Amino acid sequence: MLKPEFEPLDPRFHALVLGNVHLERLYTGCRWSEGPAYFAAGRYLVWSDIPNDRVMRWDETDGSVSVFQQPAWNANGHTVDRQGRLLSCEHRGRCVSRTEHDGRRTVLATQFEGRRLNSPNDLVVKSDGSIWFTDPTYGIDSEYEGDAAPSELGASNVYRIDPDSGDVQAVITDMVKPNGLAFSPDERQLYVADTGATHVSGGPRHLRRYALRADGRGVQGNGPLFASLDAGFFDGLRVDRHGNVWTSAADGVACFAPDGTLLGRIRVPEVVANVCFGGAKRNRLFICGTTSLYAAYLNTQGATWPA
Ligand code: MG
Repeated sequence: MLKPEFEPLDPRFHALVLGNVHLERLYTGCRWSEGPAYFAAGRYLVWSDIPNDRVMRWDETDGSVSVFQQPAWNANGHTVDRQGRLLSCEHRGRCVSRTEHDGRRTVLATQFEGRRLNSPNDLVVKSDGSIWFTDPTYGIDSEYEGDAAPSELGASNVYRIDPDSGDVQAVITDMVKPNGLAFSPDERQLYVADTGATHVSGGPRHLRRYALRADGRGVQGNGPLFASLDAGFFDGLRVDRHGNVWTSAADGVACFAPDGTLLGRIRVPEVVANVCFGGAKRNRLFICGTTSLYAAYLNTQGATWPA
């Protein structure tokens, strides 16, 4: 029997979830949880508590939680690169940074065409080592989650950091407030959330799916609409190995098939901002929900490792 927090809306959802598994709350006490990233070698997960300017650490071996970093540049999205290093989107730093194996912080991107980035929000690593990140203005819109400042760019784009040259190129320039993003398992598609309704009345609260160029270094076309919401926002998202999209939504986590069908939901008692796969078999979905960190085992696995 599925626990009531798992809500199937399409028969295909049953193959992705497990009976008698329940949603677990691993920690509560944050102001706004975001940016989960799981480290397989250390069996721990880090995530952001943005307004409290700290990064938290949950230890899978004993369930303990500690402060990993504070102050933390009002970090938002995180991921782990192919070498096992932590990558961070920093609101207050207005950059993308990497924590090296020896603990040093390396800044990877601070500007585009001579103007400062707004406030990098979320990021993903492609198998070629390139880093793709979104740059809306949320971290400079107020003092709450960064330092308030005008946008030097006057636009919110998606960028790619070249793994060889370190060059920062704009790859998507037709979104209002690009936010979470993730590649399909074959890396031929890129899903990007647009949360532009925060700034534009009637603006986007949807996911778009962009086809990658043949060389894999950019996208082609306009990125057709993949899924939309009437209320709330898609923020962070991840893709499982079957290509299903697990995305934050107002009332929990929504799961969409690659054909765009809403397969089902995981109801979470707080607004969800982001998710990631983790655990030794990467079959556990970690969920950042406002004040808390949640997790649920699934009958599927993250598409990529690191996830
Ligand atoms: Mg986000």
